[in-house]
Amino acid sequence: MTYSEKCVLCEAEADFEDYPIAFMLKISCGNCSTYTILRNAYDDLKDDQSYRKNERHLISGYFRELSERGLAQEKTFTLEEINRIISLPWVPKSVEDKANKLLSYIDRRSSYFQEPIEINFDTPAIAYCKNPRELACLYHELGKLNLINTNGQAPKGTHAMMARLTLTGAKEVERLKQASPNSKQCFVAMRFDQQMDNIYKNHIDSAVKATGFEPLRINDKEHNGDICDHIIGEIKKSRFLIADFTGLRPGVYYEAGFAHGLGLPVIFTCHEDWFDKEIDRQIKGTFPDGNPCECTEKTLRSVHFDLEHRNFIIWKNGPELQDKLIKRINATIS
Ligand SMILES: [Zn+2]
Repeated sequence: MTYSEKCVLCEAEADFEDYPIAFMLKISCGNCSTYTILRNAYDDLKDDQSYRKNERHLISGYFRELSERGLAQEKTFTLEEINRIISLPWVPKSVEDKANKLLSYIDRRSSYFQEPIEINFDTPAIAYCKNPRELACLYHELGKLNLINTNGQAPKGTHAMMARLTLTGAKEVERLKQASPNSKQCFVAMRFDQQMDNIYKNHIDSAVKATGFEPLRINDKEHNGDICDHIIGEIKKSRFLIADFTGLRPGVYYEAGFAHGLGLPVIFTCHEDWFDKEIDRQIKGTFPDGNPCECTEKTLRSVHFDLEHRNFIIWKNGPELQDKLIKRINATIS
């Protein structure tokens, strides 16, 4: 069932798709972007008595940013996740944080230095603002600080103005991108399959959160094109990286190497069956006389020798990995 109604987060007119059997709603809002949410979480947001009433615009900004970064696809938000959004490290806590969000937005949209970017005041979510007025104030303040150039004509009939990053603004954006020492993000590089998905959801995710950090995992199968830039951008913004070598996925070597090159701490982990284990390998072939040949040979399955001297966490099961990760993060990441 589809219908139009006001978006609960920003009160703009939005399109709703209702999936009663799955208890979920898909909402397409011009300000917040498209988000899918469980019905009980939506009802909770709608409750005017809820303490969250004054935080709706921050949740709106979060959905918008998630969507712009390509991280919102096929994600359904639960009540528990909505409850956590406000405390996430990347959600602004101050006016300065919001101003930085606006700068980052302009940078994200720019394909070359000084490209004029349209700032539509009807989309305050781009900088986690409560209303068009707050966004307009931020815009003019950035102009006064010479971080953006506000000259330029916006398309007629829109509530928009143009912005171009100045050299000072571009430098500030670079500084923000490099500001990982204060980041709460932990990038998790690992194999993607059903078994490892369960390990991630039930153990790695919990371990990282238990130590006050926020895990981020990017499934490269869900993306195309600029996935590499996207991964590199997120690693740069992270405080540290967890690299799990179970399954010996090549991307994990790459991501761990990149983080190491940036000087970020890397925690190496691997299931014991993949770390250093002799296994039987089946070989099938044909003898020169045409008869089939089938045999097994012993081979060593192990992580690359250059990495063996790293202080690996070798794990047998999820709870053990979770426990060891918490201890390692607490001991080495401050
Ligand atoms: Zn909205």
